[in-house]
Amino acid sequence: MKNFDAEKLKKDFPILHKKSDLYRFIYLDNAATTQKPKFVIDFIKNFYERYNANVYRSIHDLGEEVTTLYEDARAKIAKFINADTQEVIFTSGTTESINFVADAWLAENLKKDNEIVITQAEHHANFLPWLRLAQKKDSKIKFIDLNLDTFSFNNFDPDTSDLINENTKLVAIIHSSNVLGDIWDKQEQQLKKLIEKAHKVGAKVLLDCAQTISRKKIDVKDLDVDFIAFSGHKMIGPTGIGVLFIKKEMHEVVEPYRVGGSMVSFVAWNSASWRKAPNKYEAGTPPIAQAIGLGKAIDYLNQYIDFGQLKIHEAKLCSYLIDGLQKIKEVKIIGNIERLKTEGHLVCFVVDGIHAHDVSAFLSKDGISVRSGNHCAQPLTELLGIDSSVRVSFYLYNTMRDVDIFLESLEKVINFFKK
Ligand code: PMP
Repeated sequence: MKNFDAEKLKKDFPILHKKSDLYRFIYLDNAATTQKPKFVIDFIKNFYERYNANVYRSIHDLGEEVTTLYEDARAKIAKFINADTQEVIFTSGTTESINFVADAWLAENLKKDNEIVITQAEHHANFLPWLRLAQKKDSKIKFIDLNLDTFSFNNFDPDTSDLINENTKLVAIIHSSNVLGDIWDKQEQQLKKLIEKAHKVGAKVLLDCAQTISRKKIDVKDLDVDFIAFSGHKMIGPTGIGVLFIKKEMHEVVEPYRVGGSMVSFVAWNSASWRKAPNKYEAGTPPIAQAIGLGKAIDYLNQYIDFGQLKIHEAKLCSYLIDGLQKIKEVKIIGNIERLKTEGHLVCFVVDGIHAHDVSAFLSKDGISVRSGNHCAQPLTELLGIDSSVRVSFYLYNTMRDVDIFLESLEKVINFFKK
């Protein structure tokens, strides 16, 4: 068992120790992006100094070497989510992965009056591709309603609800919310039932794992999900790299998202045929350093992080933060407080009389980074009856001391505005 020691882990992340431009740097915006360990940063630098060449094309030694590294990274990611190697497709991130499914598969298959089911808690990345497509095709989007008392979908029973029915082509849902944290009931039993129900009526399921890939064991075989999407930068990896998992059975029916170099098996003047997955889904030069860098991030997580312990650590931080916030009368926490205290990785709140952006800007002047706004979930924010909130989000290197400093600074901000 790996011992969880956030103070020790923090030492591996150089940016968290920068003091030159500010007297301190407390990073609490991990749901937006996570920081990178020296191990990954050094690798990226070393990659360009030692290995840089294109993949799949060149027969020279460096070309072969870098292709092997790139494929090794794919294999590591496949193992991480219990997929087969050819089911892991590199993209630029969650957003591109979801647009990929919308354009390359659903656009080809969606008919008038077909339905796409999503939840009321989606990030824009898992809403706008479907909205645009539904509008083009004259099809419908249906929503799994959020229970505003529990901030979860516990009113939705896939077995008895007819929301998912013969007209449904795709159920595309968030795995964990970037505003509310965990939202599915009873450790994903509900999610599994939902996937079963979708398959029963002939629909496919996409899971937006952007907020969970770095903290929850995702087993695509156990879930029996058809697509999952996530970003490398939210799991201590580089930006510009993401993953789309496409279940093997779908490879015949999901078209290439882009066409071009490296994905073809044969091209003539008036015809072309594609290589098998994953190559047919990766036209052009891929983000090579980033993909291999993501493999390194996974090495780091595998070596140092036990997800069970990480969950306890993040929940403790949330619990401590919530206890502090509840002592400030101007603060209202958004979400299921009990659940956030036991399973959370983030806490959103509003401050009476002070706009979230002002809170964030003033905290930043005090060396503290948090997110403010609608968190790319405008319809959800409206549903919650607010126009913006402050979000504190944790990861493996955050400590109770970070929370203490944050709370102290928040009180200063509130006192300043009250004057
Ligand atoms: N879905 C969720 C739940 C997210 O939190 C995010 C990032 N905030 C995205 C999708 C989009 O991720 P990216 O910007 O890396 O494509």
